[in-house]
Amino acid sequence: MLDLKNCDGRKDIKSMTLDEITEELEALGEKSFRAKQLYDWIHVKLAVSFDGMSSLSKELRRKLKENYSLTSLKTVEERRSRVDGTRKYLFGLEDGHIIESVWMQYQHGNSVCISSQVGCRMGCRFCASTLDGLERNLRPSEMLDQIYRIQSLTGERVSHVVVMGAGEPMDNYENVVRFLRLISSEKGLNISQRNLTVSTCGIVPGIRRFAEEGLQVTLALSLHAPNDEVRRTLMPVANRYKLEDVLGACRYYFEKTGRRLTFEYSLVRGVNDNLEEAGALARLLRDEKGHVNLIPVNPIKERDYVQSDRKAIADFKNLLEKNGINVTIRREMGRDIGGACGQLRKSYMEGEG
Ligand code: SF4
Repeated sequence: MLDLKNCDGRKDIKSMTLDEITEELEALGEKSFRAKQLYDWIHVKLAVSFDGMSSLSKELRRKLKENYSLTSLKTVEERRSRVDGTRKYLFGLEDGHIIESVWMQYQHGNSVCISSQVGCRMGCRFCASTLDGLERNLRPSEMLDQIYRIQSLTGERVSHVVVMGAGEPMDNYENVVRFLRLISSEKGLNISQRNLTVSTCGIVPGIRRFAEEGLQVTLALSLHAPNDEVRRTLMPVANRYKLEDVLGACRYYFEKTGRRLTFEYSLVRGVNDNLEEAGALARLLRDEKGHVNLIPVNPIKERDYVQSDRKAIADFKNLLEKNGINVTIRREMGRDIGGACGQLRKSYMEGEG
């Protein structure tokens, strides 16, 4: 459900489109060009308070403060990797929840991985973010502000965004879609939709609906197994949706958007990493439009999954390639600053941070 109010009931202005802000300001008796100025303060100058919006009159700033909240995340912790420059951030929300975001530097630009929910209820067995279940959905402003704060803190432009941190985007559908439109808006940070990636564990109706949005976003599917049987041992969502239907939805996404998919495959020793499984995966994906991204799984202490060894990863990759599948191996980023995704937040919450 789309939620445009913050927890004290004031309207969340950072989650609004320019048209909506224009309507709001007109209702307050202001001219429409004020809406453009305000939108620019929020989404281009990345203002953290109404007080700092110096081109707006004192009276307007007073009215804004009275009626609206300007979501601004608090930096609780920043950790920098000495190995590859990756930075992990813990941000505090207005209700005291903590979320994790990651900033990574690549040759093609700076990428931010954001959370879309506080926690997650999908229960994937290899994931630290789901261990305490779902706390709540993030509003569009709270997704935007992860990027805005990181851009302000690093002083560098963010060119790519992956919605791949804590949360299942299709479980917070309206807020995520609104976020994608705002972050790619020409009047805001204007990040190309082609540089936005949304990762899903495979919610079939969500993928089909997402295909109809008219967006040019990359969809990444957390696949992690070549068949339903193995997939069910790793991902409870596989009990709800059969692989056949998930891949059918992915094909539909390609047909509608022309965007090739990314199939994420975390390699777990002894669970899904033998050559038989590589062969089955090659057969499964033979006619799909996309590439496989192999991820050496990051161990989390609450589970006993172990990363595949280098040779197993290389053999798995070679077999896929021999069968004509495009494959990449995800570089491990920020291994020295919190390990697996969601792990830094988890250790902070347990007082080990
Ligand atoms: S991998 Fe993603 S969908 Fe699965 S539990 Fe973790 S956050 Fe949720």
